[in-house]
Amino acid sequence: MKLLNPLVFIFITCFSFFGKSQNYFQQEVNYTMQVRLDDVKHELFGDTYIEYKNNSPHDLTFIYMHIWPNAYKDNSTALAKQLYENGETKLFKAKDEDRGYMDMLDFKVNTKAVKWEILKDTIDVCKIILNEPLKSGQKITISTPFHVKIPSGEFSRLGHIGQSYQITQWYPKPAVYDKNGWNQMPYLNQGEFYSEFGSFDVQIIVPKNYVVGATGDLVDGEAELDWLNERVKATEAIERFDSNDLSFPKSDSATKTLHFKQSNVHDFAWFCDKRYHVLKGEVVTPHTKNVVTTWVMFTNAEGNIWKNSIKYMNDAIYYYSLWNGDYPYKHCTAVDGTISAGGGMEYPNITVIGSSGNAFQLDVVITHEVGHNWFYGMLGSNEREHPWMDEGLNSFNELRYIRTKYPDRKLIGDMADGAVGKMFDLKRYKQHAQYYYTYLLSAAKNEDQAIETPAQNYTELNYGGIVYSKTAVAFDYLMATLGESVMNQCLQEYFKLWHFKHPQPNDMKDVFEKISGKDLSWFFNDMINTTKKLDYKITSIHFNRDNTYNIDVKNSGDIKAPVIIQGIHNGKIVGEVIYDGFTGKQSLSFPTSTVDYFKLDYFEVTPEVNRNNNRIKTKGIFKKVEPLKIQFLGSLDNPDKTQLFWSPVAAWNSYNKWMFGLAFYNNLLPQKRFEFELMPLYSHSTNDFAGYAHAMYNIFPNKTFFQKIAIGGTYSRYSFTNRIYDRNFNKYAPELFVEFKKSAPRAKFKSSLRYRNITIIADDYASVLSGLDIDYVETKRKSNFNDLTYQLTKSDAIQPYSIALNLQHGGQKNYYTSATVDEMTKISVTAKYSYKYGKKNKSFDARLFAGTFVGTTKANAGAYRFRLSGFRGYHDYMYDNVFLGRTETDGVLVNQFTESDGAFKFYSPVGQSAEWLVALNLKSSLGNMKLPLCLYADIGTTGSDGILNDGVLYNAGVCVSIVKNIFEVYFPVLISKDFENYKKSNGIKYPETIRFTLNLNMINPFDLIRKFEL
Ligand SMILES: [Zn+2]
Repeated sequence: MKLLNPLVFIFITCFSFFGKSQNYFQQEVNYTMQVRLDDVKHELFGDTYIEYKNNSPHDLTFIYMHIWPNAYKDNSTALAKQLYENGETKLFKAKDEDRGYMDMLDFKVNTKAVKWEILKDTIDVCKIILNEPLKSGQKITISTPFHVKIPSGEFSRLGHIGQSYQITQWYPKPAVYDKNGWNQMPYLNQGEFYSEFGSFDVQIIVPKNYVVGATGDLVDGEAELDWLNERVKATEAIERFDSNDLSFPKSDSATKTLHFKQSNVHDFAWFCDKRYHVLKGEVVTPHTKNVVTTWVMFTNAEGNIWKNSIKYMNDAIYYYSLWNGDYPYKHCTAVDGTISAGGGMEYPNITVIGSSGNAFQLDVVITHEVGHNWFYGMLGSNEREHPWMDEGLNSFNELRYIRTKYPDRKLIGDMADGAVGKMFDLKRYKQHAQYYYTYLLSAAKNEDQAIETPAQNYTELNYGGIVYSKTAVAFDYLMATLGESVMNQCLQEYFKLWHFKHPQPNDMKDVFEKISGKDLSWFFNDMINTTKKLDYKITSIHFNRDNTYNIDVKNSGDIKAPVIIQGIHNGKIVGEVIYDGFTGKQSLSFPTSTVDYFKLDYFEVTPEVNRNNNRIKTKGIFKKVEPLKIQFLGSLDNPDKTQLFWSPVAAWNSYNKWMFGLAFYNNLLPQKRFEFELMPLYSHSTNDFAGYAHAMYNIFPNKTFFQKIAIGGTYSRYSFTNRIYDRNFNKYAPELFVEFKKSAPRAKFKSSLRYRNITIIADDYASVLSGLDIDYVETKRKSNFNDLTYQLTKSDAIQPYSIALNLQHGGQKNYYTSATVDEMTKISVTAKYSYKYGKKNKSFDARLFAGTFVGTTKANAGAYRFRLSGFRGYHDYMYDNVFLGRTETDGVLVNQFTESDGAFKFYSPVGQSAEWLVALNLKSSLGNMKLPLCLYADIGTTGSDGILNDGVLYNAGVCVSIVKNIFEVYFPVLISKDFENYKKSNGIKYPETIRFTLNLNMINPFDLIRKFEL
């Protein structure tokens, strides 16, 4: 350790902020390029001359170059793998003619040939080995011809749809060299860019009738500008655009050369389309009064909403300039494109916009993409490592833009003031709630990831929910605690210091802390770097003699963030205090005022995970209880109300007949800890109640093996026969469900354990002889089972599979004494595998089942035998499935079955075993036919008690998959001899052998909503 001279110490302390900037360096890369488009073969032919200036203090012996069109070349690329992982298989299955690549490279450095190589595992990056080291402070010229086969625009950002071209990430480009060394990276869809600043001088040769939008200003472009201005006039004269006419005019045989130049940018993109209508405008920036020409170029597709889009461009440039710093370039363009990488995509000076649907969305997408000229363009952070620094900050500005321009805009737009808003109680949610709820979707389940996470490590849901949404909400909250003017000063200082540079997260923190004069570690360390949650809670209030209040607030979360409390009187805010953050409990004093109630975070800008503990009334007994709101169908979580949702329900089975009733439930989205559904039904046929109830308490623990622990249970009651009298079963099933944490958020394997203790009490009867007649006495039958299942699933876009291990123990009990009547133990394993092919819902499916009884007598196993033919209603001894005719023995309803045990599609009592059973089920969609037809084949065998003559049984046939995995009908074509004998000896006709599945419990709407994934 070395002691510092006090003067040096002061010097370092005072200038440490600027000191960091002094160590900072960035390379300079200037391009001169010429490129020609072949719009018949969809190819580019180009030459590039790159001036590379080494401003680093190090000598460089090699240079990494991105040759990103190769990302589309084959399935070995990081892009193909990432798209596949995200469930998008278009590129994976693409034909060669739709793929893209870059070739004809011949690198020279200072006109001399050099050694270079494509990286083995990353074919869209290559390495140029310099003949002699590039010394610090010196520059070289790297040149090469190149040829690009343009891929289909359906995969990602570079591509063409017909003769509409999106020429992005298209030329050889040095990777960034910064203080961390080389940042070479493959192209990815999820995970954007990091590039060196410099200048571009680009000549583009296209057939004469193409409209071209590009980074950079036209040089000597008078003729082109005149031509564009003519186009503007023509566009302005169009009253309605014919969205059905998307035909391409024939290409001109003559070509034109357009020359573009720009400096202080780090990328160059261009777009061209012969169909483009063109509009032009102008905006003056607020601080420097820089005049910016704005252009929009669009096809007929959404022409009718694009015709007002110059205004969106101008507003976006104005407000982003106002809040952050002025737009310094001369033009800004937005083009309408058919891109597949989200709603829009940003490049310096130019953005491409996907289909928007309505004017508001178009405004928001244009604004967002134009906004990237700041967060990505001028503030060129490493998006791959810190995606929040551009997507997140940009989304925060987008949120501000919407709030400024559309202050009354609601979450569901114009519908909020109509019947829908009223009916579903959605009027209260402002547009900015969108960002909060998107964050909460994963945060409520503790499946969120930290804002500071490399782009490619995010799940697809979190990439939107965290990078964009949580960052936007977090910065909005920071603004609420700092005040708008301090926030603007911070943003402007950040822009001033770091534009045309590569800022890192700490650079931003330094600026914000210096300008605000506050310790913002709660924000930059906890909100940004961790998944710690925010939740303050009002516990009680005290009225003081001096007419002030003391509000007791507890920090139930993990972040020491500022607390905002408002006092409300007669529906108006009469006071607001922002307190410094704290841990534990504090009594906060609120100045003199007349207040009806206090509210934490009245404007809902705090990204709290629980907003239901934010209110306290000054008078009354139940000061903290929110009024009950009974809501038809459902709504979003409303922190001001205790919500109870309801909906009418009708149900049918063969014994209760029609049942009518109501369903009550407390939770839809986002997931709550306690959730219940209650569905009482009444049957006029049995004059009795039936129905279903379910309640679970969910815990999402931090830092354990468990992702979720849920404790709760289910109760159900229905009639199962009308024989002798209308008989009901009552099922009680408490359960414990544990989902294990995945090895990483993007991991494909997921596993869970579910334990249930199932008690079924079913009405029964005993026959009593009374004289010559037989009388029936009502009795009950009781069974109890322990049921334990461990399940492992692998999600995969093409080959998903799952394995389930099941252990069952239990049997019938004497209803009155609870003595054991029979008792069995069985174990089984069910493995499922799918191979998905073709466009939609087409797959080959295999299922393997093996099960055996353990230490169980045959007599005791009797009722619970393994069954080759799956379960009919009366086989379902745990009453787990929904059967329309649970105890039917003939008629159509007896042919409803579940694919349990052997899951054979042909029914026969042959193949029931009190020993063991093994079966394999195969099913395949028929080619790529539109009809939902499939072929199936089952093969299996059982213990010696189950088989008649054949050792192995089989059946095969055709199925109609009306709703895949839910409603399917099976027509047998080929069956084993034993089955044939059974059919013959019982006089069974063909129609009676047609069976169907109807898995109604697979379509629980509550489960479907909660499994919701983006
Ligand atoms: Zn963006």
